[in-house]
Amino acid sequence: MSTFIVMLGPPGAGKGTQAKRIAQELGYPHVSSGDIFRENLKNKTELGKLAETYMNRGELVPDDVTIAMIKNRLSREDCDDGAILDGFPRTAAQAEALNRILAEMDAQIDIVPYINVPDSVLIKRLTGRWTCPVCGHMYHEEFNPPKEDLTCDVDGAELYQREDDKPETVKNRIQVYRDQTQSLIDYYQKQDVLVEINGNQEIGTVTTDLLKVLNQE
Ligand code: AMP
Repeated sequence: MSTFIVMLGPPGAGKGTQAKRIAQELGYPHVSSGDIFRENLKNKTELGKLAETYMNRGELVPDDVTIAMIKNRLSREDCDDGAILDGFPRTAAQAEALNRILAEMDAQIDIVPYINVPDSVLIKRLTGRWTCPVCGHMYHEEFNPPKEDLTCDVDGAELYQREDDKPETVKNRIQVYRDQTQSLIDYYQKQDVLVEINGNQEIGTVTTDLLKVLNQE
């Protein structure tokens, strides 16, 4: 039996942070579409070049490209027993495609934790976010600052602000989420796999709530 978990929630809800934590705890790979795009961008691959303009504007990369990329990632051996999907699906077409991909693997989506956070908190969280270019660790200037200004606690690298964490792009990302992704909450509710989690709590408390729900599966 495999276990596939889809993390749902607006940008800034803490999906990525939580997905990493539960992936480590439960021993499944963390499959983040955003991380794969960023990795390609860094390595200047064809896929990276294609995704860059969309990402910098806070728009979605076209479905066909994104679906092919995730299909390829899920076909790797480490996903045989399951995976924690973060940032995918984001559109109805991607959700349909994921059902097909998993059916071909004789698998299905087991649970969809929806991390809910009020809009006012999201904007504050996203615009104060700083990332380490080396290890990917994320900080927040107000809620989780590094020990030394703009320097990664882990490896001492200089932190940067992701192009899409800049204020004008953040507003667009939230709008795109409302227009294209929010409907997936209904979609998964109808499939009886959605569980709402309060994301407006301390990081560790959100993880505890998530693990409680996941361990009941
Ligand atoms: P994230 O780190 O998940 O916020 O993703 C960063 C950016 O990558 C998004 O704003 C999109 O431009 C692109 N992206 C990530 N996942 C997807 C997806 N499932 N569909 C389309 N674009 C995506």
